[in-house]
Amino acid sequence: MTTWRVLNLEQRLDEPDSVLRARACREVGAEPEQLRGCRIARKSLDVRGRRKGRAARFVAHVDLELSEGFRSELLTRAERSGRVQVAPVVGKLVVDDPAGDFRGRARRAVVVGTGPAGVFAGLVLARSGVQVDVIDRGAVLEERGRDLVRFHRSRVPDPESNLLFGEGGAGTYSDGKLYTRVDDPLEVPILEELVACGAPPEILYDARAHIGTDKLHRLLPKLRALLEEHGARFHWRTRMDGIVTDDASPKRITAVRTTAGDMPCDVLVLAPGHSARDTWAVLAESGVPFAARAFQLGVRVEHPQSLIDEGRYGGVPGAEALGAASYNLVSKAGHDAPGAHSFCMCPGGRIVASVNEAGLLCTNGMSNSTHSSRYANAAIVTTFGPREFGEGAFAGLALQRELEQRFFEAGGSDYTAPAQRVDDFLARRDTRELERTSYVFGMTPGRIDRLLPERARDALSVALARFDRLIPGFGGEHGVLVGLESRSSGPVRIPRDRQSFRAEGFWNLYPVGEGAGYAGGIMSAALDGARAAQAALRMGVGLVGTGQAPGARPS
Ligand SMILES: Cc1cc2nc3c(=O)[nH]c(=O)nc-3n(C[C@H](O)[C@H](O)[C@H](O)COP(=O)(O)OP(=O)(O)OC[C@H]3O[C@@H](n4cnc5c(N)ncnc54)[C@H](O)[C@@H]3O)c2cc1C
Repeated sequence: MTTWRVLNLEQRLDEPDSVLRARACREVGAEPEQLRGCRIARKSLDVRGRRKGRAARFVAHVDLELSEGFRSELLTRAERSGRVQVAPVVGKLVVDDPAGDFRGRARRAVVVGTGPAGVFAGLVLARSGVQVDVIDRGAVLEERGRDLVRFHRSRVPDPESNLLFGEGGAGTYSDGKLYTRVDDPLEVPILEELVACGAPPEILYDARAHIGTDKLHRLLPKLRALLEEHGARFHWRTRMDGIVTDDASPKRITAVRTTAGDMPCDVLVLAPGHSARDTWAVLAESGVPFAARAFQLGVRVEHPQSLIDEGRYGGVPGAEALGAASYNLVSKAGHDAPGAHSFCMCPGGRIVASVNEAGLLCTNGMSNSTHSSRYANAAIVTTFGPREFGEGAFAGLALQRELEQRFFEAGGSDYTAPAQRVDDFLARRDTRELERTSYVFGMTPGRIDRLLPERARDALSVALARFDRLIPGFGGEHGVLVGLESRSSGPVRIPRDRQSFRAEGFWNLYPVGEGAGYAGGIMSAALDGARAAQAALRMGVGLVGTGQAPGARPS
């Protein structure tokens, strides 16, 4: 049966979703009895033209499953004009053709990391009958929350259980934004798992889907229970400190060295996220290859949410019902400066100290599902690559560290963030007085324009001035730059085979997610973990002799 995607259907803000189904059917000339299924594939708010009096509306893509062989003149015409197209295939998380039946065959996978990459890799493997042990250096959710409260009170981070390490990974205290820019067949099945664990159903189609920290915290224990139902075992506060390999070439990992002892394994899924710098060091010593990767560098900017709402929705009738406004701003590279863009925008959110090590400062943002705080924050970042930070796999990491230390010291060495008003940053002058901030450790006036590398300062200056034209006030006295944003993406990559997902030179090592350099957010990490696990299943989960050689394509 063909599923047709009807594109760009408009829906008034006060209309129920049911109108979309009727509109989609009308577009292709289908009668209700010819309809086998209907789902909203994507829906976004469109406020363009509001200043010329055009009403805000939703714009939706709707997928229609129609009876076998359905055709109509309207469908043919809509297809020709590009208003209708065949819907992209929706994939499955389960693997129909694993190279072996692992039930009762004691194939064992160790997954390092309980972020989205590790958890979805673990789920795919466990569902196929592989014995999965998931380890995380950080604590289970409830204990992790207590460790964070202690950090906020004492200003001394726990290096093992913190905002970046522990159940759920780096996104556990986040806005829980779930959109990707790729139309991946596994996107829907992953989102469906999250909905089954309690995420709001709108994440299946909302173009700006987010879950929020409060709801994520209700969802994660259910996701953990789902894996446990399939036999997976979780080991908290258990850190991987190395690998045990045999002498073969390519190398085969026989066990994972952990703080709780050696864990034998047939396959190692490595999903430690972008901040496990000590873990990269021990892996590099064991011969795991690393390559430098360009990363995003900049600052976190905060404004009153009301300023952003006015800039985005000002003049839209009924704007109050639209919730806190968000933005996604881009400043293209020009002759005057490199490009820069906003990233990880948190409407109605707050700024957090995204650190796992004492003596370093890095900021990020989070929000609850209701987006209810008075503040809006986002990263404004530019790209730094080997040309900027020099040769060597860990040169980018060295620059990150140097800047994080510089910002930590400039804030007074107690996680207070150095901060500068945006207008002062643009004018290269001191900030005398700062407004209030959502940042939990508070801020102190600092010269962000001098603390940042020149290239980042110039890119951000051009970008902030441009953004001020798009959202009036963005570059003014009510905007403040808070601390450093240095970990929006990881600075290294573990080279792996494109098809089999195996690390170069290793038989059974699957580096996945952000720490391995293959993801930049929650959804892309989950997708990468799931895909790698599927590849491992097709390759026989580390079966030597019967599996295909590294570099070979999975069947
Ligand atoms: C504050 C904040 C807000 C964010 N907001 C968003 C957002 O709204 N939307 C979005 O898409 N992305 C967001 N991100 C980014 C997103 O969280 C990451 O891209 C994503 O979590 C990466 O997933 P991952 O599974 O690769 O690694 P991670 O989620 O980082 O998980 C890695 C896990 O591995 C564990 N680990 C590390 N080393 C070891 C070891 N040696 N042994 C055992 N365990 C180890 C860690 O404890 C951690 O739990 C945010 C990040 C932060 C910090």
